[in-house]
Amino acid sequence: MLQAKTEYGDIITLATFTQTEITLLKKHTQFYCPACQEPVIAKAGSKMTPHFAHTSKSSCPVREGGEGPYHEKGKLLLYQWLKNQRLDVRLEVYLPTISQRPDLLIRLRSKTIAIEYQCARIPPADIIKRNEGYHREGIVPIWILGANQFNRRKRNEIRIDQFQLLFIHQFSADFPLTLYFFCPNTLRFILLQDLYFPAMQRAIGNVTIHKLNDMVFTDLFNTSTLTPRDLWQNWKKEKRLFRIRPSRQRFGRELLWDQWLYVNSTHREALPSIVYLPVSAQFRMKTQPWDWQSRLCLGIIHPMATGETFSLQRCMHLLRQHIRNLTAFPLIQTEANPVYQYLQLLEQLMVIKEIDPYHFTKQNPFIFYEHIESALKGDELLMDQWIKQNTGMIPE
Ligand SMILES: [Zn+2]
Repeated sequence: MLQAKTEYGDIITLATFTQTEITLLKKHTQFYCPACQEPVIAKAGSKMTPHFAHTSKSSCPVREGGEGPYHEKGKLLLYQWLKNQRLDVRLEVYLPTISQRPDLLIRLRSKTIAIEYQCARIPPADIIKRNEGYHREGIVPIWILGANQFNRRKRNEIRIDQFQLLFIHQFSADFPLTLYFFCPNTLRFILLQDLYFPAMQRAIGNVTIHKLNDMVFTDLFNTSTLTPRDLWQNWKKEKRLFRIRPSRQRFGRELLWDQWLYVNSTHREALPSIVYLPVSAQFRMKTQPWDWQSRLCLGIIHPMATGETFSLQRCMHLLRQHIRNLTAFPLIQTEANPVYQYLQLLEQLMVIKEIDPYHFTKQNPFIFYEHIESALKGDELLMDQWIKQNTGMIPE
């Protein structure tokens, strides 16, 4: 931690003193943790941000789990950045009612915002618990990840694992799914917005990188999205690779899914093009998009006659093992329902029609393909049709 209390009750931020001053301070002053009141040790080496540490025997409620110099440096930089904008920001305030100490606490008009700069992996239950604490106190939490966890693969594509899923923000229904990263070494924010998952641990999204000093706090709430064209062109490639994936590159659940298709008298090369479409709430699913979407199509819609009706509830029931509860995503403030989003896409593609809230009729039968060539062509046509409908552009 960056701050401690002196025996006179003053709060000291060690990093605001010079090395000589720190040496003097250490000689003449005792420091205490503002949360647990135990003595803490001042640490100031040439390569680290001067900070305080608990003794190894401490049982402090807010003792950090060894987040290290990267975290301390970033926290201090973020604090100075906010302070320079003349915001009402405080560092490491201990909130006794919830026994938590956010890295930064901002008061902005009627809102209180806690900023957590998370660089280490801690148990997901701890993250969920801390967010619950903030919600109880009416505090808006914002989690910024250390850029050491940012794993870019291509311009618009990154790897995201289960742990990082916890930090996806969605403040309102029209706010794109957003992940924040900050690098204290290059002084840059990385915003990853409008995420779509073509596979479990891979997301397509809009990556923007900003110099710390070119940004103000409220810029964190700006939105930048993928263009429909970017999304669907990327998706086209994904789908093509999925259609032609050699069997030696299929493992685990994907193999089981291939077998399930076989039992249902079909295979991936034959599947209708409406299986494996992008829906933003895919992050809630425990299975790949092609897996649950095909189960919904083959299990419910395909066996029905045109004109027959079904409900969202029936689809949710069929897929209940596939969906994670929203409580697993503490920063999602919306109802993000992947199954409903998928049904809405099917409606846009004129496969089904919503007749009253959450009830649909089947409009057109599915087209199964006989050859991989016609499947690949059909996939392209479907996505081109969608791009045209939504942008008015003729796709390349
Ligand atoms: Zn303490």
